[in-house]
Amino acid sequence: MDIAKKIYKNSPNIIKLPIEYVYGSIPNKYKYGAKYREMKRLLEKSQWWPKEKHIEYQTMEMKKLLIHSYEHVKYYKDVFDDYGFNPYTFKNLEDIQILPLLNKSIINDNFQDLQSDNYPSRKKMLTTTGGTSGNQLKFFAEKNYNQVEWPFVELIWERVGYTSKSRVAALRNDSFRNRELFKYDWKERRLIIDNFHLSDSNIKTILDKLNNEKVEYIHTYPSAILSLCEYIKRTGFKMENTPKAILATSENIYPGQKEIVEGIFNSRLFTFYGHSERACIAGWCEKSDYYHIQSEYGYVELLDEEQKVITKTNTRGEIVCTGFWNYAMPFIRYQTGDYSAYASKKSCLCGRNYELLETIEGRWMQEMLVCKDGSKVSITALNMHSNLFDNVKHYQLFQHKVGEVIIKIVKTDKFSDNDEIAILKEFMKKMGESIDFKVTYVSEIEKTQRGKYKYLIQKLNI
Ligand SMILES: [Zn+2]
Repeated sequence: MDIAKKIYKNSPNIIKLPIEYVYGSIPNKYKYGAKYREMKRLLEKSQWWPKEKHIEYQTMEMKKLLIHSYEHVKYYKDVFDDYGFNPYTFKNLEDIQILPLLNKSIINDNFQDLQSDNYPSRKKMLTTTGGTSGNQLKFFAEKNYNQVEWPFVELIWERVGYTSKSRVAALRNDSFRNRELFKYDWKERRLIIDNFHLSDSNIKTILDKLNNEKVEYIHTYPSAILSLCEYIKRTGFKMENTPKAILATSENIYPGQKEIVEGIFNSRLFTFYGHSERACIAGWCEKSDYYHIQSEYGYVELLDEEQKVITKTNTRGEIVCTGFWNYAMPFIRYQTGDYSAYASKKSCLCGRNYELLETIEGRWMQEMLVCKDGSKVSITALNMHSNLFDNVKHYQLFQHKVGEVIIKIVKTDKFSDNDEIAILKEFMKKMGESIDFKVTYVSEIEKTQRGKYKYLIQKLNI
């Protein structure tokens, strides 16, 4: 198989493209293999399970994982023995609360000992999480991981009408870096658009293409779709094609952003929460914007500041996950650095019985402003009214000093001194005396290595 792949990779396009085209025509259930089919069958049924059945399933998967970890992963063998934890008598999900938490630095320090002894290198792949250097994480995932992951993503997208035959445009550049603006991915049957240089002329070309191709779903980052919105608003560009949904992932959606996108594209902005560490996935549904935690993917706990498990609704805590699908390097009670709260509604109108989460805030150092007195305020508190930034192309918050935040602004031609006054006034109104705001003007906003915009860049030595 590997030799065939090598030959294919080195083939010229004239041979490659027809092969890709044929591959792309194969229905997913044959293309992605047995594990994919098994997961699809499970999820089609399990999404309608009663709550008790979800718990029963999770208990069974957790026990399997714990026994595997004890028998094949040295790190867990030592930890379980130290804590007097017996995986063979495990009965209730709460029993794992006795176990210590896992985080990035523990994983780095125990990289060898966390790998299962029964997974040779041909069965696993080295994976890296996003983020700036310094807080990236390297770990091993099972090689066929996509066969497990993709059915979950499809299941979530199907809630807004997606099928494998849908016309999808991917305005992202995690899968392709190129000098061309467009590329058709015949294998996955989707149009790929490079989001790295969203200049006015590129945006115009992209919007024309979305109109002409009658794209049904735009898979993108919230920040990228917002750049298109800003252009449409500023220039009065007419979107003739209404996508069925905008599938925005990999970044937080901040208050106000959803309304802007939905107003301009006249279609739903839809998202799910997931992470490269692959221990949790939770998506919105056709009826609500609650994150439905997929019980078949992993077990989720929310922990307060004292690392006690939260059971109450509306109480924010860190998302801690145990993933069921990476036996090559199991993550048990992994601290994600993301925060959320259980929704006050215990059930959703869609009829599914998954646990529901409210909004999710990302890795705190990127998401919390640090005030003069050292206290932290979530940037979701900075929910600005929508016309405040009418004359701003992009903006980004930059904090390199406690109690001081710089608002970096890329102006449009219409921007005036009054805009600066209004923006500063609004920020000060929200934060009072606790943070000083300053405005600076830039020609471009810094992006991450993966071409994403971050709302807040923080370089604090605390
Ligand atoms: Zn629902």
